[in-house]
Amino acid sequence: GKSPVTVTVTGAAGQIGYALLFRIASGQMLGADTPVRLNLLEIPQGVAAAEGTAMELDDCAFPLLTGIDVYDDARAAFDGANVALLVGARPRGPGMERADLLEANGGIFKPQGEAINAGAADDVRVLVVGNPANTNALIAASNAPDVPKSRFTAMTRLDHNRALAQVARRAGVSVADVRRVSIWGNHSASQYPDVFHADVAGRPGAELAEDRAWLLDEFVPTVAKRGAAIIDARGSSSAASAANAAVDHVHDWVLGTPDGDWTSAGIWSDGSYGAPEGIMASFPVTSDGQEWSVVQGLEINDVSRERIDASMAELADEREAVRALGLI
Ligand code: NDP
Repeated sequence: GKSPVTVTVTGAAGQIGYALLFRIASGQMLGADTPVRLNLLEIPQGVAAAEGTAMELDDCAFPLLTGIDVYDDARAAFDGANVALLVGARPRGPGMERADLLEANGGIFKPQGEAINAGAADDVRVLVVGNPANTNALIAASNAPDVPKSRFTAMTRLDHNRALAQVARRAGVSVADVRRVSIWGNHSASQYPDVFHADVAGRPGAELAEDRAWLLDEFVPTVAKRGAAIIDARGSSSAASAANAAVDHVHDWVLGTPDGDWTSAGIWSDGSYGAPEGIMASFPVTSDGQEWSVVQGLEINDVSRERIDASMAELADEREAVRALGLI
């Protein structure tokens, strides 16, 4: 059969890690015919818990899981990695300024980028989940000069999936009948979920968007602030849906997006749609199983333009902040 794919997961003992690892090991991410080796990276305080999760993974007797190793050293954990899921990050603490947050995460994502550069497989595919995901991905990519920038991505698939669900609910159709929504910009409150190009059970998404009060006062903020709403309701942050989105992202990258549809991902900007070049920005994208490509030729109206530009500008600001800190 196929040789195993080495998947490195950081923050493996966290909430998202716990929801993610079992799905990877069961074959839901890379396909039911692809064996997987798992490398779990944690900080020293997290190693014992990661070892406990590794015991549970053993106890699932997943036929596709060929081995699990737990590390507290990034070089060792990324050695030979084909897929790297960067989940562990420094959350924003009370009273923490943005610069402090970026600096704390620079201390994580700079050495991880260097470790990926040093030892990951030539075909490595990196997904950054840990926030601020786009800029953490920019830091990692910038510190891996020998790895093509196209190998680094930031997760906006959860925002994309949230947008699909909200559109389906509004239109009273199945989520399976909604295609071609888009997330533009930063995985932050400034993100712009775009329905203007969507196909909603055969009808144009622009019809839903004619109700501007729904679009701008309900849909956009509901998608952008969904994480906070879940924390309020559950008492802890979304973990299973974030893990699900990471599985979806890598699945579509490796196996390709369906014909006639697209998804959203934070990728190295080539300047498409007037975005600054060299930020890690979300666009509507397709994958051919190897590389992501931005969906070209979409007409951007004034409502969308203003919001896309604002979110892209926020990413350019974050880039300036990490540049000033010497992280890129
Ligand atoms: P979670 O597993 O809940 O979250 C991990 C990261 O994912 C956070 O940065 C979080 O950002 C982010 N995230 C992105 N999208 C979402 C979403 N939709 N919902 C929730 N989170 C999202 O955090 P835990 O604290 O449970 O676990 C983190 C683990 O990482 C710990 O075990 C810690 O030891 C480890 N860690 C490992 C490092 C390493 O391997 N080098 C470095 C740092 C930490 P946000 O907080 O903004 O929601």
